[in-house]
Amino acid sequence: MNAPLVAAPPIAAIATPAGRGGIGIVRVSGCDIGSLIEGIAGRTLEPRVASRVDFLDAAGSMIDSGIAIYFARPNSYTGEDVVEWHGHGGHAVMRLLLARCIELGARLAEPGEFTKRAFLNGKLDLAQAEAVADVIEAATATAVRAAARSLSGEFSCDVHALRDALIDLRAYTEATLDFPEEDLDLLREGDVRERLATIRQRLDRMLARARAGAVLREGLTVVLVGAPNVGKSSLLNRLVGEDAAIVTAIPGTTRDTVERDVEIAGIPLTIVDTAGLRETTDTVELLGIERTRNAISRADLALIIVDARDDDRAGTAVVDEVPAKLPRIVVHNKCDLAGIAPRVERGAAAVDAPGSTTTTDIWLCALTGDGVDALVETVQRVAGVHNIGEDAFFARARQLEALRDAALHLELAQMHADAAAPPIELFAEELRAAQHALSSITGEFSSEDLLGEIFSRFCIGK
Ligand code: GDP
Repeated sequence: MNAPLVAAPPIAAIATPAGRGGIGIVRVSGCDIGSLIEGIAGRTLEPRVASRVDFLDAAGSMIDSGIAIYFARPNSYTGEDVVEWHGHGGHAVMRLLLARCIELGARLAEPGEFTKRAFLNGKLDLAQAEAVADVIEAATATAVRAAARSLSGEFSCDVHALRDALIDLRAYTEATLDFPEEDLDLLREGDVRERLATIRQRLDRMLARARAGAVLREGLTVVLVGAPNVGKSSLLNRLVGEDAAIVTAIPGTTRDTVERDVEIAGIPLTIVDTAGLRETTDTVELLGIERTRNAISRADLALIIVDARDDDRAGTAVVDEVPAKLPRIVVHNKCDLAGIAPRVERGAAAVDAPGSTTTTDIWLCALTGDGVDALVETVQRVAGVHNIGEDAFFARARQLEALRDAALHLELAQMHADAAAPPIELFAEELRAAQHALSSITGEFSSEDLLGEIFSRFCIGK
């Protein structure tokens, strides 16, 4: 047998959901579970073979009859010895089987503890371990695919490749610091600036993919704002596909916010239809207006709905209510009544990233749905998932933060590199900080890595 990877006591848990099902599974992981296996199965089990077994209690009576699979370390999910008891999926029988495992020395596993052990034993890196939970929690098919890509290690591979490029650059830079008599002119002799620019481009691309993944994971809150009667509720219903909000021709009908969770083009959206913003003394309406302001304050994107017949949208109070930094799309609704064909007019700058304040104007007809497809496409574009959805990494806030942190340090490094007399120590320090940020994504960081790189690439005897 292999030596224990981590001297951890056996843990056990019911791995299948609570409730009744055809099959229920109790899983056990630990470094010495031989006696537990024999206590339940009445015999040893051959690794990686599904064995028909009677599960026995302490008195030797049968609790249930099912299948047992034993994975000998290190060839298991956790890297430890693992046994899975596949019994009948009833609440009581699963509880009995779990209690039997506890009786034989296991303790109840904490949430995520199997995966935590897998990480500690080097079976998964941190980003992959997080992706396990993300695959389970993914709310849409696109999100599942994005999480699976992270789980397969694609995200980690990209992070490592970028980190390695940074290590190369650091090795070169720090050699200059360590051997000043060599008089390496850092910026002239090495193509440091070019290499840094390439790394920054790659990081930007990763950030875009991770940002798109964050949208797939967290979804977006889209707020519909506009004067009463411009067609907000009609558009909401069109997007949601049901009569979620009351539609009438009487201004001020939508007195409250109406929220609906929908999946549009793979993005989970929370669409908030708001009470029209206008001057009023009506108490109920004032309450609605207050809620509208709250909804706007937590939105990721505003759809400003105006009547296509009303050109003077800049004069409406609504536009003033939307914070300048909130991305927005101006929807000119009722284009049928205005005699205008559905169309899209993008602002001068590209609207490719959240945070962009460039306005896109769209003419559509909420009543018939004409032009709504173009609106959905524009929402994707503003969310940063346009052309990237299938390529997205299912990034968590922590990972996104680390990528942004790395990008910031590389920007500072660039600033130092561009200085008339580049402060090489500061430049090197920013590279180190960027590498540290990247390494935090996969959960490993060691300055030994860097030393190894430096000495293997530079001839010290020179
Ligand atoms: P809200 O107060 O902004 O939520 O507006 P509603 O969605 O309640 O719509 C007000 C009225 O305009 C209703 O009678 C809708 O049927 C009508 N309406 C909404 N969108 C369109 C459209 O694109 N074309 C036409 N002709 N009428 C529309």
